[in-house]
Amino acid sequence: MSDKKMDIPENMQSSLIPEMLSLDSKINFNCHKDISCYNKCCKQADITLTAYDVVRMKQHFGIDSSEFLNNYTVPFEMDAHGTPGIKMRTDNEGVCIHMREEGCSIYENRPSACRYYGMGVMSRRDQGSTEDYYVYFRNKEDICKGWEEDYETTVGEYREDQGLVDYDKYNREWMQLILKKKSAGYTIGKPSEMSMQLFFMASFDLDRFKRFVTSPAFNKVYLMKPEEIEQVTSDDIALMEFGYVFMRHVLFGEESLPMDENAYEKRYEERKEIIEMRRDVEVKEHQRKQEELKKEALRVDDERLDDGHNADSCATDDSCKK
Ligand code: SF4
Ligand code: SF4
Repeated sequence: MSDKKMDIPENMQSSLIPEMLSLDSKINFNCHKDISCYNKCCKQADITLTAYDVVRMKQHFGIDSSEFLNNYTVPFEMDAHGTPGIKMRTDNEGVCIHMREEGCSIYENRPSACRYYGMGVMSRRDQGSTEDYYVYFRNKEDICKGWEEDYETTVGEYREDQGLVDYDKYNREWMQLILKKKSAGYTIGKPSEMSMQLFFMASFDLDRFKRFVTSPAFNKVYLMKPEEIEQVTSDDIALMEFGYVFMRHVLFGEESLPMDENAYEKRYEERKEIIEMRRDVEVKEHQRKQEELKKEALRVDDERLDDGHNADSCATDDSCKK
């Protein structure tokens, strides 16, 4: 399953200019368990995850965001600035780790890109306008037979059937952040490593972000009342939406958060949490790579042993002689 259908990271876009559709446009598409291509899209999964995808999936598994990132995702860079993103983990053949013969094991909380597989969506902004809006287009992958089904629907119905209304609502601001970065760039030159780490934490590692927002270090820098902190950390959605405000402040210098006038002297305190997070991510990535290398070495050893065994058998077995 390819994820080039949502206008977020650069590597998710198609180079073709497709026919733009609205919510009322009629389409012929149907995906169901008896279709000949069932599961094929999940066997070549390349799924970029959004902030809301992570919220839904970590709640599905009932685990901490750091544990979710570690167990189910791989890091990648979303653009030339090195903006950190995450993709769904697959096995060595590219099969999504949530795919089962009977279908998706996390179906009710599957990511946005999976829900949009048949369709593409782009966030557009007309010249001179500050408002963006979504446009849709057909995403006809060769393997997907859903477009050959005799089933008429509309883009709006497809979107509702796929449970995309909430996803679009919560993804929208996160996509706008990335669009803004693409069109206007960051306020002051290339973003610092620290701001990238903050982007990663506020986008994907919400439980760590919560610890940061409720820490004395945050409190020393940002002038928020205890009841405001309580409100923005009351649940994952509130925290995710506060993360969007925080990212606009950090990435684009928007004065969306009141700061202590001596904040700069105190800001070094922030770094402790971030440095710790970065170290954790690096250590886990290193461990993952080591595990992969070990598995590969064992596989090669097994193959050699098998070859040796076969050669020994042949040496004593007339049936191998040509
Ligand atoms: S999350 Fe589910 S729908 Fe998406 S690629 Fe994996 S198995 Fe397929
Ligand atoms: S119809 Fe398309 S989306 Fe549905 S299972 Fe087949 S390839 Fe996947």
